[in-house]
Amino acid sequence: MASSSYSNPPCAACKFLRRKCMPNCIFAPYFPPEEPQKFANVHKIFGASNVSKLLHEVQPHQREDAVNSLAYEAEARLKDPVYGCVGAISVLQRQVIRLQRELEATNADLNRYTCNEMPTANQFGRRIGHANDSYGHHQTPGLYYPSQWNN
Ligand SMILES: [Zn+2]
Repeated sequence: MASSSYSNPPCAACKFLRRKCMPNCIFAPYFPPEEPQKFANVHKIFGASNVSKLLHEVQPHQREDAVNSLAYEAEARLKDPVYGCVGAISVLQRQVIRLQRELEATNADLNRYTCNEMPTANQFGRRIGHANDSYGHHQTPGLYYPSQWNN
């Protein structure tokens, strides 16, 4: 499909740094030319040489995760220069704590309702029983029904 006579377009890093993208370029697998902003952000926050150093230090199978982490942190840092992604983390942590409290309160409500449900149902049951058939249950029907029919 790809003709070998065409040289590959430089990766986003090499294009940004205006240098020739060599076949063993450390950036090329992680900074494709279609995503120029990804490298621009990472370079602005961490510096290309630091990123290159870091990529050489980590195992090849960890490099993609490392780059994604750097790109995420760089984007967050650009949006929030003071807190970076720590800002997002603490917002989410507060949200988790709030939702946990809400869940606890809801569970407590549910517990209360299920505990109150049985006595309430019994009270209603007794009241309904009085209206309908408590005489029938507590007195012999033979005594009750004839007396009503007789009156
Ligand atoms: Zn390159």
